[in-house]
Amino acid sequence: MSEIVLDIKNLKKSFGQNEVLKDIHMTVASGEVISIIGSSGSGKSTLLRSINLLEQPTSGEILYKGENVLQKGYDLNKYRTHLGMVFQSFNLFNNLDVLENVIVAQTTVLKRQRAEAKQIALENLTAVGMDKFVNAKPSQLSGGQKQRVAIARALSMNPDVLLFDEPTSALDPEMVGEVLKTMQELAESGLTMVIVTHEMAFAREVSDRVIFMDKGVVAESGTPEEIFVNPKEERTKEFLTRFL
Ligand code: ADP
Ligand code: MG
Repeated sequence: MSEIVLDIKNLKKSFGQNEVLKDIHMTVASGEVISIIGSSGSGKSTLLRSINLLEQPTSGEILYKGENVLQKGYDLNKYRTHLGMVFQSFNLFNNLDVLENVIVAQTTVLKRQRAEAKQIALENLTAVGMDKFVNAKPSQLSGGQKQRVAIARALSMNPDVLLFDEPTSALDPEMVGEVLKTMQELAESGLTMVIVTHEMAFAREVSDRVIFMDKGVVAESGTPEEIFVNPKEERTKEFLTRFL
């Protein structure tokens, strides 16, 4: 059994009166690839943002390698460096070229020497097929290329877990495949990944486990086979008929 990297217990998140995450339990084991599916508004982004503390959970526990990161005095900045995030909207720095985009957090946050950061950036840009574009500005790239740079940037921080929030939803259809291919290669390399996606064929092919969220709860979770072929819950079936 692989090490449990994240163990999320009784996680709740409200915005005012609106309880968006109701009582989430979820574990992420080292090397595991988990897809989170569900309708718009079901709380998928809030769950990812709560896991990496872009949102402060209302209650519950997030154990990172057995320690509750929500306890007083825990080093949250350190914790955040262990998790990478890839957003739907890339969030590249438009004034920096590709190489600088991938270097900057390495030198500022991880305090790496520039030469080392550059070497790591080039390795990861090569891995995502973007090494030919080191001097390009984001505005000169397609959406698929920007997202691959964003993935290289996240990888360069050596995260224990890489979180993806609908990484292909903002892309033109012809760009989706290249980003999914990159993500599939990462999954096969053993990276631990949690992926919010509407790409059901991808989720089925690449995931070890699929979580179906509905109205702020984990309505069903299981292997891709269990979720996509033999869903137990009526609401899972109803959701999937809209996609498959
Ligand atoms: P999903 O990613 O599954 O589409 P979200 O997590 O974005 O769902 O949103 C779930 C619910 O939480 C929605 O009703 C949304 O309006 C609400 N919500 C999300 N972020 C905020 C916020 N910052 N402030 C208030 N409500 C929010
Ligand atoms: Mg979302």
